[in-house]
Amino acid sequence: MPVTETTKSAIVIGGGIVGVSCALYLQREGYHCTLIDKDKPGLACSAGNAGNLGEASFVPTALPGFIWRIPMMMLDGSSPLQLHYAQFPFQLPWFLRFMATSRLEKVTEIASSLRTLMIPIMDAYEPLLEISGTKHLVQKRGRLQVHGSAKKFKGAGFAMNMRREGGIEVQELSGDEARELEPALGPAIHSAYYMPNAYISTQPSKMVQAFAKALTANGGAVLREEVRRLEPAGDGRGCVITDKGRHSANAVIMAAGAWSTKLVKPLGVRVPMIAERGYNATLPHNGVDLKIPITAADSYVVLSPMEDGLRVCGMAEYASIETPPNWRLVDQMIESVEQVLPGISQQGRFDWQGARPSTPDNKPIIDQLEKHPWAYMAFGHGHVGFGTGAITGRIISQLVTGQTPEIDLTPFRHNRKFY
Ligand SMILES: Cc1cc2nc3c(=O)[nH]c(=O)nc-3n(C[C@H](O)[C@H](O)[C@H](O)COP(=O)(O)OP(=O)(O)OC[C@H]3O[C@@H](n4cnc5c(N)ncnc54)[C@H](O)[C@@H]3O)c2cc1C
Repeated sequence: MPVTETTKSAIVIGGGIVGVSCALYLQREGYHCTLIDKDKPGLACSAGNAGNLGEASFVPTALPGFIWRIPMMMLDGSSPLQLHYAQFPFQLPWFLRFMATSRLEKVTEIASSLRTLMIPIMDAYEPLLEISGTKHLVQKRGRLQVHGSAKKFKGAGFAMNMRREGGIEVQELSGDEARELEPALGPAIHSAYYMPNAYISTQPSKMVQAFAKALTANGGAVLREEVRRLEPAGDGRGCVITDKGRHSANAVIMAAGAWSTKLVKPLGVRVPMIAERGYNATLPHNGVDLKIPITAADSYVVLSPMEDGLRVCGMAEYASIETPPNWRLVDQMIESVEQVLPGISQQGRFDWQGARPSTPDNKPIIDQLEKHPWAYMAFGHGHVGFGTGAITGRIISQLVTGQTPEIDLTPFRHNRKFY
């Protein structure tokens, strides 16, 4: 069915957290909004994440000194960073930029711009949770970052100080104090950082699907079609060509996560974004009653208490979206969890893999195309897309309606220097 032609119409491509948030915010501005996804909404990367909606995630992944650890991590088969050597030559330019972002002045710059995007995270989610009836899926549970030795604890001090300077409350706990707070933790935990004000979504996929349902309940449309190409419609509007037909609208928002580079390329935009694949295992009958989400920082694994069980998340596998999953990596993650939560049971375990849309500087692209003013970009959210989905939607609605965006978008432009 073609999209209704009205003076205020928008098409959002991609039914992940970013796309549904853009669509709901535009609908609130009176736009007739159509969400197009090749699949059902909420099944791709926005389904399998750790659900962390924390404001504290503004510290980038490549910190000073990181550059020296990369070669070892690349060669280590059990490292949380996995490469596919045949694909590596194509990814090399991305990696060089990524490594260049670990300079202190760049880290500070990235953290301060991401911080501006993260301050309003919960404020931006509030109306969307309300309209979709999903307030119960977001809970303030705090977050514990646990370490197995004094050395590792100290090593995390730089990032924690950045968080403190950014206004995040961080408490330092001994192993016993951490176990008092979270009795599921095992004796191998030496010390921990506790951030009491962190929020978690206990069922990310359900949340995205409820947002999509709220869109249709309020007059919007959700189409299951695969977008093939975008082009100008000739009247100042944009035209979206799918496997089922053509649709046009005043505004077209590209929010297709890791697939977005294919959409923008024919419009003359090249962005350094690659698929950084992650994995999870959900353990429904895990035998430990975890209350507080955990970052097991020594092994780069995140443990999230979800509605349907304990979710063990992690890995950064640099491989194209189409590469078959390597489920051995999930076994590797689970093995490392035994140290943190001894006696954990894998009964009923189910595994998942998905692709983070990652830019080398950890920052998403939130922008309007000068050459095609009907085209907007909302992708590249990497490790922080679930938290920053709603605020991205609010900013996109400000751009589409001609308002001054609530934050300075210079650091998020598509043509910024990425390193
Ligand atoms: C293991 C793991 C843990 C994570 N933990 C966290 C966390 O705790 N907190 C956090 O903030 N972030 C986390 N993230 C990152 C977060 O999940 C992503 O940044 C976010 O989900 C990206 O959302 P998106 O809407 O951009 O993309 P997606 O959710 O991938 O959605 C993109 C959609 O576009 C559709 N699409 C693609 N191409 C087309 C096309 N041609 N036509 C039509 N539709 C198309 C796809 O079907 C898909 O539904 C994690 C990621 C992983 C992998």
